[in-house]
Amino acid sequence: MRVGVLGLQGDVPEHLQALQAMLPPDSVQPVRRPSDLEDLVALFMPGGESTTIGRLLEETGLAPALRARIRKGFPVLATCAGLILLAEAIEASPGGRDPTPLGVLAVTVRRNDYGTQRESFEGPVEIDGLSAPFPGVFIRAPRLLEVRAPATPIARWSGEVVGVRQGALWGLTFHPELSGDGRVHALFLAETTGFGQRRPASHRKTNTNRTTKPTATASQ
Ligand code: GLN
Repeated sequence: MRVGVLGLQGDVPEHLQALQAMLPPDSVQPVRRPSDLEDLVALFMPGGESTTIGRLLEETGLAPALRARIRKGFPVLATCAGLILLAEAIEASPGGRDPTPLGVLAVTVRRNDYGTQRESFEGPVEIDGLSAPFPGVFIRAPRLLEVRAPATPIARWSGEVVGVRQGALWGLTFHPELSGDGRVHALFLAETTGFGQRRPASHRKTNTNRTTKPTATASQ
């Protein structure tokens, strides 16, 4: 069994690394064209620039292929720009072009709604199914303006909903792949596919005690 990481733009290496640390060798692959989706049990959609990723999803033919699979129950964990691209609706961001989303997750989002890169921040996120708070890394994060059934909130930061679930579709406004903590990836895989073993510990020994603000490394 294999899982994929959408490999068009953004923090693809970080998702690959997080997954490689918890899964058997050769069970993680980047996805760049529709045929790459075959045989996958789940897909991770990274953060990055949602307008760019959205354009590439259309150009590669991945948009319709992915939408069709998702409608049949294909598990997807989408982070930040990935969440924006799953949304049913995007409320216009001030002065920004917005991508055309896949329209599969019953939420309305607004891009960059916590401010610019300077206002990127970290904070403890309470996540259903995890006993201790998760270190949330928010980088030019979208805000979840509305969550509608069948989507339900699964993650909160400072009382605000920052993650939702709709069956096997999970969307988070923060970046679990950047915090050096594999619990979200492991929980998602265990709950939606039964693949992999749950590893509550950190997957990267470095970077767990990050004290600086996140900067625009791979994600924008
Ligand atoms: N601000 C980006 C966008 O709207 C998302 C940021 C991210 O994925 N870290 O596309």
